[in-house]
Parts: sequence; structure tokens; C-alpha cells
Amino acid sequence: MREQILNTKNEALSLIINAKDKIEIDRLRIVFLGRKGRLAKLTSSIPQLPDNDKAQIGKLINDAKKAIEDTLASQGAKIKATRRQDEKEEWLDVTAPGIRPEIGHLNPVTRIIWELTEAFEKLGYQIVETPEIVNDWYNFESLNIPPHHPSRDLQDTFWITENLLPRTHTSSAQVMLMEKLKPPFKIAIPGWVYRCERSDATHEFYFTHYEGFAVGKNISFADLKGTLYFLLRSVLGNEIKLKFRASYFPYVEPCAEISGSCPHCQGKGCSACGGSGWLELLGSGMIHPQVLKNAKINPEIYSGFAFCFGPHRLAMIKYKVNDMRIFNNANLRILQQF
Ligand SMILES: [Zn+2]
Repeated sequence: MREQILNTKNEALSLIINAKDKIEIDRLRIVFLGRKGRLAKLTSSIPQLPDNDKAQIGKLINDAKKAIEDTLASQGAKIKATRRQDEKEEWLDVTAPGIRPEIGHLNPVTRIIWELTEAFEKLGYQIVETPEIVNDWYNFESLNIPPHHPSRDLQDTFWITENLLPRTHTSSAQVMLMEKLKPPFKIAIPGWVYRCERSDATHEFYFTHYEGFAVGKNISFADLKGTLYFLLRSVLGNEIKLKFRASYFPYVEPCAEISGSCPHCQGKGCSACGGSGWLELLGSGMIHPQVLKNAKINPEIYSGFAFCFGPHRLAMIKYKVNDMRIFNNANLRILQQF
């Protein structure tokens, strides 16, 4: 009997200290201390014992009962404390600042294109996407660049067939659009262009152009000047001054190469402008009468101007980048800086 009581007690204690939750504690309480439990069964056999054993066995059972009760209480408290800790860890502070998800942003070249688009739209330009693969007529001949013309060498070309090429400039859409439209019109064409060139810091074999041209009655060089001031100030800031220098492209006459005062030093000279205070920005001019004729527009009645931005070039200037190739690769460590 003594051994039975000790074994019951030991079994109970070992089960209780391994109990993981309150349900298990409650179940063990019933199994050992319940009205029909293991200790109650032992107690019920006391009357059959010899009289001199009764008191001693009764005491042993009471001790076992006390030990089981104490262990149930301490283990119960332990489980409760652990649960409270878990709840504390799971507690949600709704006022805590959130974790900002990592989101991308626009490539600097795309940003320039969007800024130009917005500025073009304010001036009433129609933004048009045009084919990247064009024929020789639209890319060269219609723009006054006949075969063997030396200016073809300036635009080394990837030829697909003898007559088809990926456009070397967005001017390839000038005659293509002009022959479909009735003046007056103002058109802007953003897009990729392709040149058979070796990549270096200032040359790429694919980069962006943003062409603008307008045709109507009495359009003059002064209109071109006003337009360029408005567009460039929208992108590079209101401080910019422009310098027009005579130049040559076969499809415009007169032709002007345009430099702008450096937006970083306001023309005083800094590392971004090589100390000169000026940066070359774009080419422009009045549309050559022959180009208008090629588009079946009468140059005696109508005139127009054309110009072409390089969004890659403008992004280099605006963000002080000295290697245009970084805009075309997907290196996030570089692109995240802008
Ligand atoms: Zn400067």
C-alpha cells in the first residue's frame, strides 16, 4: 500500500510538470484528486486496513495529495505566465509607424520624358508614337539626306535590309506625319533611336530622342526660340539662358545648335559644365522647304520649325551624370540614387 501511494504520487508529479496547457492540468487534477480519482480510490481502501496502519497510511495519502495540489498550482501558474508572455509578443501597436514597402521610381530619363511631355502638352502639342523601323526615304531621303550624303556618316546605321533600318533619329517621322496632316499642326515624338556606335560615356547604340515640330502660316525663328525657352525651362529650371549658334543639318535652314547656361552654376563655371558655364543642348532650325515639299506642303504658304531633344543628354545634365550608359542598365544601386 505504501509503495502504491508513492508510485501514484510520483506518476502524478511527473505528468503534471510535463503538462503544456491548462486543459491538461485540469484533466490531471480530475484523474488524481477527483471524487473518483486515484487518491480517492486509495483512501477508500483505508477501512480495510489493520487499525495500527490506518493513521500512517492516511497521513501518506494526505501528503501525496498535498504534493500533487502544490505541483498542479505551480505548473498552472507557470503555464499562465508563459501564455501572458506570448500574448505580449503578439500584441499589436496600431500607433507604431509602418514598415515602408520598397517601391521603385522612374528612371531619370523617363522622368525627363514625362516632364517634356507635360510641357509640350501645355503648348498644345500632340504627342505621337511612331514606328521604330522605317525605310530609307523617311529616315534619310525625305529629310534632304540623299544616298552618299556625308551627313549619313554622322548617323552610323544598323541596316536590316537595303531599305529598312531602326530609325537613327525621331525626325524619321516628320514627313511620315506631315503628309497625313493639314497645317497648322504641332507634333512631339518621344522614342528610342539606334546608331551603330561603340558605347562609351557619351555615346550609346540606343538612346532617346524627343522631337518637336510645328508647321503653319507665318511661323518664324522667334516662335522656335520662345518654344525652346519654355520647354527647357520646364525641365532645367527658370534660370537657364540659351545661346543659338549657326550649324548645319540638311533638313533645317537656317540651322541652330543650342547651348544652355549650366543649371548647376548659372553660367559661372563648375565641374558639370567643364568650367565653361555652357552646355550643348540640342539642334534645331526652320524646316527646309524641300522637306515640306516632300510632305506635299507648299513652302510658299507654310513654314515650320523642328528641334530634337536628347532626354538621355538632358538627364545627364540635370542629374550631373557623366556616363549615359548607367541610365540604360538595371543596376538598382545606381538608379536608387536619383
Ligand atoms: Zn556649371
